[in-house]
Parts: sequence; structure tokens; C-alpha cells
Amino acid sequence: MFRTHTCGELRIADINSKVILAGWVQRIRDFGAMTFIDLRDRYGITQLVINEETADSVAKELDKLGREFVIQAIGAVRERSSKNNNIPTGEIEIALTEIKVLSPSEIPPFTIQDNTDGGDDLRMKYRYLDLRRNTVRENLILRAKMAHAVRSYLNAMDFIETETPVLIKSTPEGARDFVVPSRMNEGEFYALPQSPQLFKQLLMIGGFDRYYQIVKCFRDEDLRADRQPEFTQIDCEMSFVEQKDILETFEGLIKYVFKEVLNIEIEDFPWMPYSEAMENYGSDKPDTRFDMLINNISNETKGKGFGVFDSAEFIGAICAKGCATYTRKQLDKLTNWVKRPQIGAKGLVYVKCNEDGSFKSSVDKFYSQDNLKEWADKVGATAGDLILVLSGDKNTILNALGGLRLEIASQLGLRNKDTFKPLWVVDFPLLEWNEESNRFHAMHHPFTAPKPEDILLLDTDPGKVRANAYDLVINGVEIGGGSVRIFNSELQAKMFDKLGFTAEQAQAQFGFLMNAFKYGAPPHAGIAFGFDRLASMFAGLDSIRDVIAFPKNNSGRDVMIDSPSTIAAEQLDELSLKLNLKKKE
Ligand code: ASP
Repeated sequence: MFRTHTCGELRIADINSKVILAGWVQRIRDFGAMTFIDLRDRYGITQLVINEETADSVAKELDKLGREFVIQAIGAVRERSSKNNNIPTGEIEIALTEIKVLSPSEIPPFTIQDNTDGGDDLRMKYRYLDLRRNTVRENLILRAKMAHAVRSYLNAMDFIETETPVLIKSTPEGARDFVVPSRMNEGEFYALPQSPQLFKQLLMIGGFDRYYQIVKCFRDEDLRADRQPEFTQIDCEMSFVEQKDILETFEGLIKYVFKEVLNIEIEDFPWMPYSEAMENYGSDKPDTRFDMLINNISNETKGKGFGVFDSAEFIGAICAKGCATYTRKQLDKLTNWVKRPQIGAKGLVYVKCNEDGSFKSSVDKFYSQDNLKEWADKVGATAGDLILVLSGDKNTILNALGGLRLEIASQLGLRNKDTFKPLWVVDFPLLEWNEESNRFHAMHHPFTAPKPEDILLLDTDPGKVRANAYDLVINGVEIGGGSVRIFNSELQAKMFDKLGFTAEQAQAQFGFLMNAFKYGAPPHAGIAFGFDRLASMFAGLDSIRDVIAFPKNNSGRDVMIDSPSTIAAEQLDELSLKLNLKKKE
């Protein structure tokens, strides 16, 4: 028997029992007459003691030990003289009668404790050591609990968990595909799925009625903190449902997972049309933990001789509560912040609402106190508040104010990680114009159904057509999205036409789907949630990396196994591939 107990298990009630523990040496403290070893495993830490009473043969073994050795420790449980209330095993220790090294360890490249001295790169390279740390392991246990809760809920609702293929077909819509050469089909490639979209729709045509899968998906995109080239989705599809049914079912899922895993009761999710999200929050993923809504103050500001505003398409403002005390330096910093290329504003106008009811603005030359009072009334500013105004073309300014709103809220501590504010953003546009390709792209994907009342607009004003598409947003993060699907081959063909596909191209890429629609396709709809993002939100983290056991770095590399890597010439030959590497500029 390797062990009778884990390192997190023994308590005062176990005193005098003979036990065998196994685990890693966290640290050794040598006080001459007495030596303590902290023995660690997944379940906790138990203190081992060696003192004058310990047999010499055991004490001798000590010399061999070092950090991260795997040992087996045999001894008797006894009460500690000085207790540690911070850990559950803190009242006891093991008086050693035998110690066995099961596996030695070199000196680890960083210390394996909660506050490690290891930088990101080192920790990634030795991820298996990082996984021994409590924080990392706890995140992954949290993730496992979430997956379990998802399965319990969906299984109870009669969803069928079904695997779909990983080697599929490259399609031109969406993000860039990862491709895999086929040895048996010379010159041909599989693609890794960006999502199981078409398969889950085909499962509905196959009569499955309710499907889900916790599934790896792959997108060859540039990486950010919340993106990895491979990521996990909770992917779902249902037949004979409307948008409302989907939103209810999956609101139930998210609430259930919050309750099961974090013991948090979440209120009903409000529905917000996309247009409202854009106008009020400057974003299709509004953070609704705080208000600070965007106001259109074009009427209040134009025609007073201030050229910048007079020539602008849109003048928008937010009210930063209690910020009238901002110093010159703080305001300059904000001005530089909005001028960054990502935000794209040209400058920032401010109005301070003084405690005495007067106003101080950066445009006092053009606007009277009465004018400024009008602005304040419009944005709901009162004494002590700061009004921040941006002007320019509408989309840029809404987006910039959306960013500024988040920045100020972060500064004011309004984005508390323990508060969760979910909402459904609905009525997305079906299509969005793409300047580069000079054609419409599907905003969600080409299988999304237009709202029935907007179908006629497809021919006259395609940009105005709203989709039966929805996103789940929590705290300003897009956690999931989906849509009601087209289930009729003519409408699907029309959609491809609007997206600039010729009939032949549509047939070549998606013929199987349009064909399947001819054999009795049920009305269906679905959704997918970003499982990594949801897990990192539950764990209170900013990056999804720490909820992934073996993540890739920002260049998409796994630095532990050193991948991607070159392959042997014979392997290339076998695949009938020839490299033609061009030097990158
Ligand atoms: N396949 C979509 C996605 O991956 C989700 C859906 O429409 O169900 O975003």
C-alpha cells in the first residue's frame, strides 16, 4: 500500500494511528535537534517530524532529501505542540518511523508555492511543476466542477452528448482554419473545426432534438489574453424551438452552474437589443455592473461657434460621478488615453461640475454657464461630477466612449470581480459590410436566420436586416452566442448569394447542408459558450491561460513540448508536401 491517507486528511481524531503518507517534499526546516518536513500532495500538506526519538536510520535518510522529492513517510499521528490554524491538518504531525525516497528531484527551476518566484515563461516551460501549485490546481478543479455541472443540467434536460469529427473541411467563412494534410488523399487537406456548427445542425436533421458537447475548437487567429488557438466551447443545439426557448433553457444552465459551483444566485438576465447596447454603452458587450451611460449631446452643443463640435457627426458624453476633483494631470492622462490608436479620438473635452453649482470646462470660451448646465442636465451630472465629451464620426465616438467608460469605471473600482451581471444582447444585424472584401459578411455565421419581419429587406437594404441572433454577455465579456438557424434550402441559398457566393461556390462548400435541408429539416437553433472564458471569470482571473492545464503562449507556442516544430523530410514526402519558405518581412 502506497498510502493510508492523503496529506490533507489527518486530524486530531487520528492521534496515535499509524499512517503511511506519500507526496512531495515542499520544504525541510532543520532546527538541529528537530527537523520538520512539509509533505504535500493534491489534498494538502502534512508536517512530518524527526527528533531525538527518531531512529538514526530514519534521520540519516534526511541527508538525501531535497525539495520536490517524492517520498513515502511512515509514522504515528500526534498532536502538535505549536498548532497552525491556517491549514486543516495544522493540529497534528507525523512522528516518523520510516521514510523512503520513491523518486528524487533536481532542484526545481522555481519554488512551488502560492507566491512563486517563477516568471510566466519558466512556469509555462515547466507547466507540470506549476500544476503542483495550489492556485493553478484549484483553478483546474473549479473548471472540472463547472464541466460536471454543465453535464448534469443538460443531461437532466435530455440533451444527448455527441462527439463530432475533428478532421473536417476548410470553409472560407469565419476565422482562419488550421489545416491538416491528408496522406491518403494527395494534395488535399482537412481543417480543424472552428466550431461543430454544421454537424450540430445535421444532428438536428438527424432527429437528435437536443445536442451538446464540451468540445475543443480551433481558430488560427492572433492571440490575446482571452484567446488561445485551441479553446473549449459548450456547444448546444435544439430542435422545435424559438429564440425565447433557447434563451430560457440556457439562462437556466448558466444560473445552475453559478449556483452549483459558486453558490451564487443570479437574477434573471435582461434582454438588450444590439442597437441599444451600441447607443448606450458603445459596445455590443456592455459591462452593466455600473451605469455611466453614453449620452448624445449633439443638440446641446452644436451651433455655439465651437468648430470642432459644429463639424462633427456625433457628440457624445459620459458622466463620471464624483470625479470633478480630477487634476490637470489626471485629465491629461485621460486625453492621451483616448488618443491612442485603439480608441481613436482626437481630443477630450471636460466639464467639472463644481460644488457651488458653477461649471469649469475646457471649452469655456464657447459655452456659457447656462449652456454647460444644459449638458449637465442631459447627462444627469450634479455637483462633484465630471462630464467627458468626445466628438467625431458616430461609430468611432461610441466605441471610444465605450472604452473610456470602462477605463473610468476601472479607476473608480466599479468593476468588482465578485459581482456578476449577465444579459442577453439580441437583434444583432444579420450582415455587416466589409470594406476590404467589398461585400457583406455574416455577423454571426451564414446559417443564422433573419428575423421573419425583416426578410423582405434582404433584397432592398440588406445592412438593415436584423438576425435572430443573441449573445450572452457577463461583466462586459462575451461568454456565448448563437442563433436561430435557417432551415430551408432556398433561404440558405439566398443568404449565400447575399454573402457574395456564386451558386457553384455555395454548392461546393455547403452543398451537403442545403441538400440535407431538402429531407425534412426541423426548425432549430443553438448556442455555444466559451468555456475557458466562463471558467476564468468564475476563478476571478483576467486570462484564460490559468484555467487551461497546458496553454500556449502569445505566439501560439507550447513551450513545454516545443510545438509547433518542423517535421522530417520523409514525413513531408509522405504527405506530398514541399516547403517553400519565404523570409518574412
Ligand atoms: N457556432 C457558433 C460559434 O462558435 C455558435 C452557434 O451559433 O451556436 O460561435
